Amino acid sequence: MPRDVLGLRSETVRRANLSAILRELHTHGSLSRSELVARTGLTRSAIRGLIGEFVAAGLMAERRSASDGQPGRPSPQVRLDPGGGVVLALEMAVDSLAASIVGLGGEVLAHRRVDRPRGHFSVDETVADLLQLATSLGWPDRITGEPIGIGVAVVGVVRRSDGFVSIAPNLGWRDVPLGGLLAQAFATTGPVRVANDADLGALAEHRRGAARGHEHVLFISGEVGVGAGLISGGHPLAGAAGFAGEVGHIRVNPNGAACRCGSVGCWETEVGEGALLMRAGRAPGGGRKEVDALLADALAGSPSVLRAVDDVGRWLGVGIASLVNVLNPELIVLGGLFGRLHPFIERTLAAELDRFALAAPRGMVEIAPASLDIDAPLLGAAELAFEPFLADPAQWLRSEVGLRELASA
Ligand SMILES: [Zn+2]
Repeated sequence: MPRDVLGLRSETVRRANLSAILRELHTHGSLSRSELVARTGLTRSAIRGLIGEFVAAGLMAERRSASDGQPGRPSPQVRLDPGGGVVLALEMAVDSLAASIVGLGGEVLAHRRVDRPRGHFSVDETVADLLQLATSLGWPDRITGEPIGIGVAVVGVVRRSDGFVSIAPNLGWRDVPLGGLLAQAFATTGPVRVANDADLGALAEHRRGAARGHEHVLFISGEVGVGAGLISGGHPLAGAAGFAGEVGHIRVNPNGAACRCGSVGCWETEVGEGALLMRAGRAPGGGRKEVDALLADALAGSPSVLRAVDDVGRWLGVGIASLVNVLNPELIVLGGLFGRLHPFIERTLAAELDRFALAAPRGMVEIAPASLDIDAPLLGAAELAFEPFLADPAQWLRSEVGLRELASA
């Protein structure tokens, strides 16, 4: 084989190995060299050499650990420097805007969420508000660490390739080139990666929350709308353009109510926040305050409220049973409103699944509430922004070019 082809191959292998090591540390935190050997399948000497490259670039540090109880010398502990690379995560939710600066390893270095009334905001106003929010956290000039990207979660249907929002009913948006507008506002020529909030909630719960260690996960999040994110074989499933997971618009009731998407009887018209409030005799547009009051009544044992919650639980079961049949997840994580309802509807849901799902996939699926709470999509946006770096850290390790220059190149 010609020498240059061999060289090319070994360079490809080196880049893949750097990526494997970085991913392990980013996901699992500090690990010993022996643990890295076990997790990556690489040799000790390969691990030592590759870690040396990261250490030289200021992304990792090694520490001799005290005796680990094994005979011989203890294996050095390797950890990422959170300031070695940082990302900006942004979120546009139904009734708040949020920004976080997150370091390598997932450490949140700065965070701010600002409530805003529900309703339709102009795109320009929202982009300006996000810029102000990020600036108040010190992005990009006053942060400690090298900026490597921006990730954005939006409550809408998003094309992944360019962050084009096809529709975001809760914001009143249609056909908005959000990725481009944010790149312009933040004066970055690097990509601003935008994705649907439920897809990013799934990513965060899988990497850092209730779904850690599971390979086949369905994350279903309910607020005003209902969305889902799917992890299949350990990888996010986004569909051809990123539109996958719009489970809220599965038609479950031909005699149901009109949906904001233009159809009738969609799942979210039966299980979304408005449906729950209406079933309990409250104003459907009441928002978070009304939901908090309703949940307090449920906790106090109000029969009418518990009946309303149970109705939502049954309709949830109808949809989830079909999703279990189609997708065969091993774990379903309920986020947002559904996570809060989980203790009240656990038994109803289980009974509905027993009735309506096929026995084989039903028998292996568990249901759990989300563990990252309201910030799951924001943390997922950070993971989205880290992705190019995790996939190919080699290009960032060229010593003659700093990360800051690369990010703005
Ligand atoms: Zn719909």
